[in-house]
Amino acid sequence: MSISVIPENTGFHATWFMDGTTGSVQKNIVLYLQKGVIDKVDTIISGQPVKSGVADFTGCTILPGFIDSHVHLFMSGTRDKKIREHQLHAGYADMRSVIARHLGQALACGVFAVRDGGDYNAHAWQYKMAAEAAPADRVLFNVAGRGWRNNGRYGKLVGRPPAGGQTLAEAILVDSDRIDHVKIINSGLNSLKQYGKETLPQFDLPTMRAAVSAAKQLGLKTMVHANGRLPVKIAIDAGCSSIEHGFFMGVENLQKMADQQVAWVPTAITMLAYSEKLDPNSTEAGIARRNCDHQLEQMALARKYGVPVVLGTDAGSLGVHHGASVRRELALLIEAGFSIPEAVRCGTHNGAKLLGLTHSGDLRRGKEATFIVVEGPPSGLVDGLGKIKAFYIKGRRVF
Ligand SMILES: [Zn+2]
Repeated sequence: MSISVIPENTGFHATWFMDGTTGSVQKNIVLYLQKGVIDKVDTIISGQPVKSGVADFTGCTILPGFIDSHVHLFMSGTRDKKIREHQLHAGYADMRSVIARHLGQALACGVFAVRDGGDYNAHAWQYKMAAEAAPADRVLFNVAGRGWRNNGRYGKLVGRPPAGGQTLAEAILVDSDRIDHVKIINSGLNSLKQYGKETLPQFDLPTMRAAVSAAKQLGLKTMVHANGRLPVKIAIDAGCSSIEHGFFMGVENLQKMADQQVAWVPTAITMLAYSEKLDPNSTEAGIARRNCDHQLEQMALARKYGVPVVLGTDAGSLGVHHGASVRRELALLIEAGFSIPEAVRCGTHNGAKLLGLTHSGDLRRGKEATFIVVEGPPSGLVDGLGKIKAFYIKGRRVF
């Protein structure tokens, strides 16, 4: 007896190909899969007919699925004050569908993994715990739960101070149940009144060192929100895994991050989005735009020095929408001087390293076949990502 099965495609031809690791673009390739994993990448002669069973994406680019390494799943990018206010205070029952929607928006934009930067009520964490029981979500998400901040300092929305009498390290050791990474806030926000104003660090170096080593003891990485020279310096010297935002961190910190290979998630789109939402003639809009421009200069230096730059959007910030902001941050990386394959690497391979995703994040042999198909050559990628032709996760077509 024979059983006829309609086979899924195991080969994919594309005119252009970026594997997420190299700075170059390959032409006329066929990507072969076995059980959802990349088996090999062949080059074919241009114009040669595509073999039967191979999906023909002539005129298209294949690249890895994206990772957004800084999001807040509990908040939407909307500027509607009522909605934002509601999301800040709503209970988990209301937030479940909001978080699901945000993950769906990420998926629709070719994002297969996100790293959450925390929320005060740990709703993203709660969602993950529930989803683990019923693995319905296709987007992987790493969660921080509730982040940490110092008493009386910035960060109420995403974190809390250690309980009375506890050091930060002690607090981390007793309150990190089933989180994926530790989030620490070590500065304030960018000022929109005074350009380049730096805030004081929230924690000193010994406190931060102890905190990072407590996290390491639990096998966890630390993501540190830090803007300005001193807050960033302390986080780097303490051995943190990544600097989040890092506005106005300065050249010395960038060099040190290159030396020590500390990841940097610049989230430049946050300031551009702010500038677009404010009255264009206001001081605040002007400063937000200058903050973004300054960040692009720092990103150019980071590229030159070899800092592992990672794409993250801070989705949930005002005007920063889940999913859709990924291609905007990608455009900013390119504006800062990254080549298109280099910018893609920030949003794929580099993100996977930071999230600890060892089986995905690029399209080399042996990795999961999670990839996007976009019409046209890589030079049109940013526009092309606005209308993704196909998205495959582990070899299965998602759309
Ligand atoms: Zn954030």
